[in-house]
Amino acid sequence: MRAVVYRGVNDLRLETVPVPRIGAHELLVKVAVCGVCPTDIKKIHYGTVPPPRIFGHETAGTIVKIGGGRSGIRNSQFAIRNFKVGDRVALHHHVPCLDCHFCRHRAFAQCETYKRTGITAGFEPAGGGYAEYIRVLPFVLPGVVKIPAKNSFEEGAMLEPVNTVLKAVKRLELLRGDTVLVAGQGPIGLMFTKILSLQGIRVLATDLLASRLKLAKKFGAYRAVLANQPSTINYQRPLDAAIIAVPSDAAVTQALQLVRGAGKVLLFAHTKRAEVRNRVSSHQPSTINYQLDLASICLDEKDLIGSYSSDFTLQREVARFVFSRQLDVRPLITHRFPLAQTADAVALAAKPTEASLKIVVNVGG
Ligand SMILES: [Zn+2]
Ligand SMILES: [Zn+2]
Repeated sequence: MRAVVYRGVNDLRLETVPVPRIGAHELLVKVAVCGVCPTDIKKIHYGTVPPPRIFGHETAGTIVKIGGGRSGIRNSQFAIRNFKVGDRVALHHHVPCLDCHFCRHRAFAQCETYKRTGITAGFEPAGGGYAEYIRVLPFVLPGVVKIPAKNSFEEGAMLEPVNTVLKAVKRLELLRGDTVLVAGQGPIGLMFTKILSLQGIRVLATDLLASRLKLAKKFGAYRAVLANQPSTINYQRPLDAAIIAVPSDAAVTQALQLVRGAGKVLLFAHTKRAEVRNRVSSHQPSTINYQLDLASICLDEKDLIGSYSSDFTLQREVARFVFSRQLDVRPLITHRFPLAQTADAVALAAKPTEASLKIVVNVGG
């Protein structure tokens, strides 16, 4: 089969590799669509994990083979759904154990089981979505969601990113009527804007691209302003929270000043550790280019919190949001690349333009 293999920093190659073999209680899925995710871009651009790997984890496709036969799955401890060959499914490459110290604290992304990647197209498991076929291991079967007939594979591939957004929103514990700044209106920021406004939250959206501000309005923001003109931002209402969906330290500092007492600032895009950031000359070490007044956290009781990756227990709610089109993800997908051009898809996602939002690889198309 064809697959795009990560061979080193910024080195993605279209290669022919064996179709994965599956064992009992495993699925073989023919990939239809795989979204391009910033966390994979980071690994490709900075070489944070050793090659070779086949990346891509926002995956939807069709079950073409079930290891050990259908009864094998139904009788296994993972038998939460009956799968059959031909089912159109959205996949989840991380599923927590729900039993360890971290899971009991609902910190699923810190769970050792969660950190294992349960989907592979070969080599060290890394998602495998940039390949024609993937093997789904038993421990991530609870994360497999059937895609309703009326919905597309692309909508299925968006469940994972939407889940990460809904998880972050829940961590903020907002109340209806609260006012929240969402900094960054890329595909993730727009999902935040929509989900928050569906919950009766007033969203103030900022971005550096004017085209995205228009979209933010369509996604429910009550105000949308250019991020590089903070003086034009007239905060008529105090902010209860700020979501920083851009990797900008300055935005964090500013947000901590802007939220009112007991307000929360949530970091969503600060996924590069200082050592990685420092390797790139354009980035300053995060400790020296901004100042944080810790009294704002103690005296003013402001919370600085983070949210990373998804919450498996929200999967049903996420599927309802997306498949009912209450959160219609279709306008977010602006570019589709064939598998052979995965490197171009990654390059565009890394350097978004006025016209680009979510970028997907059409593997089966
Ligand atoms: Zn992702
Ligand atoms: Zn766990």
